[in-house]
Amino acid sequence: MSRTFRWLFLLALLTVLMTGPTTLAQEIEPVSMSVSEALDTLPDSALALDSSVTMANGLVEVPEPTDKAMRYYRSGNLLWVVGNLWGWAVPILILFSGLSGWFERIGKRIGKKWYFGFVIYILLFTLADFILSFPLSYYSEFVRQHAYDLSNQSFGAWFGDSIKGMLVGIVMALLFLWIPLRLIKKVPTRWWLYFSLGAIPFLILGLMVAPIWIQPLFDDFGPMQDKELEAKILNVADRAGIEGGRVFEVNKSEDTNSINAYVTGFGGTKRIVLWDTIIEQMDDEEILFVMGHEMGHYVLGHMYTMILMGALLILIGMYAVHRTAGWVLKKWGDRFGFHHLSDIAAIPLILLLFSLASFLLSPVVNGVSRYQETACDKFGLELTRDNHSAATAFIKLQQTNLANPRPGWLYKLWRASHPPIGERVDLMNRYKPWENGEPLRFEKYLEPPQQKE
Ligand SMILES: [Zn+2]
Repeated sequence: MSRTFRWLFLLALLTVLMTGPTTLAQEIEPVSMSVSEALDTLPDSALALDSSVTMANGLVEVPEPTDKAMRYYRSGNLLWVVGNLWGWAVPILILFSGLSGWFERIGKRIGKKWYFGFVIYILLFTLADFILSFPLSYYSEFVRQHAYDLSNQSFGAWFGDSIKGMLVGIVMALLFLWIPLRLIKKVPTRWWLYFSLGAIPFLILGLMVAPIWIQPLFDDFGPMQDKELEAKILNVADRAGIEGGRVFEVNKSEDTNSINAYVTGFGGTKRIVLWDTIIEQMDDEEILFVMGHEMGHYVLGHMYTMILMGALLILIGMYAVHRTAGWVLKKWGDRFGFHHLSDIAAIPLILLLFSLASFLLSPVVNGVSRYQETACDKFGLELTRDNHSAATAFIKLQQTNLANPRPGWLYKLWRASHPPIGERVDLMNRYKPWENGEPLRFEKYLEPPQQKE
């Protein structure tokens, strides 16, 4: 999604929850696959794949990553470092060039009233940020994905999504970003606490409206097309205690070949979403495991954990802003052209410091996420009891996503919101408590399968 969102770190989780299946939204795995690539590696069907990865003992073997996959992995790590540095360089540039102070003065002159000045500032700042961030987002999201045959999206469609992302970002900023500025002015010592507490209902509200107001701006949602598969999924959902009508299909095959499934929404809007591309690439048993995994997020209430984690992240991040901003302003306030954290021109400074703090916290966030993912892998297995299909589903993700199944520990610590595919396949091969007469971890949530297939 658009790099504009990087700048809305104040609403980091809110926006992330709304827009990004590649971020914190609960997806099986952020996967991209190209049809041509899939045709190369998976010439006929799942059968061809199965025979090549199934060992004599019936377990599934994790294939070595290809050279291309390793190139994608290594260049991706480099790009991640560059991307982070670039993401911090942009607000630093906007601050040190005096641009931010200048935007505030323009806003004041034209807007007259405080809030109108704020609106003009947000428009100017977002535009400057979009332009300064564009070279990297164009390369990493468009050029590189095409170079590795991971996307076939047209430039127009990609650019349109970027613009839409920017507009959503502007609306979010106009709705929420003035709040910390006013709080800093009114309660300069405790603003970070009040802001974090106040953010919780908005996080919940954001999660509720995302699937009905925000996500439809980017994707077409509808009922499932394949009614036979839908019946199978609803049967599994029923055994997990999820009422019908909560499964949606997204038409993604026009623009992208990525495959994905995720849980979104809150309360009445909570739902499981399946991209149509995954239906083309996986057989029914593999899809049922993927859905079982997603049902885990749904039934185990991972949305609550995310809201709690989001609020904690905002609390710690804003406290870090509170503790460090005074020192920065004392040292460089003259260069910035403003001296108070409650100044409108301080927005890039707040976002920068918050971004640095949340970067330092990301290993913890990733760790919690990986813990949830493993729980859901087990949940999906206990629901379907089909270890082999679950394992081949992950092998398909690996081969078509150019994934490194066993990345280094630094990658895992800083970047992996999901366990490495190699570890997940190992778990699929191993986890069969129902065969060994051991208690199931999620027994109380599940009805066992009616009959063995
Ligand atoms: Zn998941």
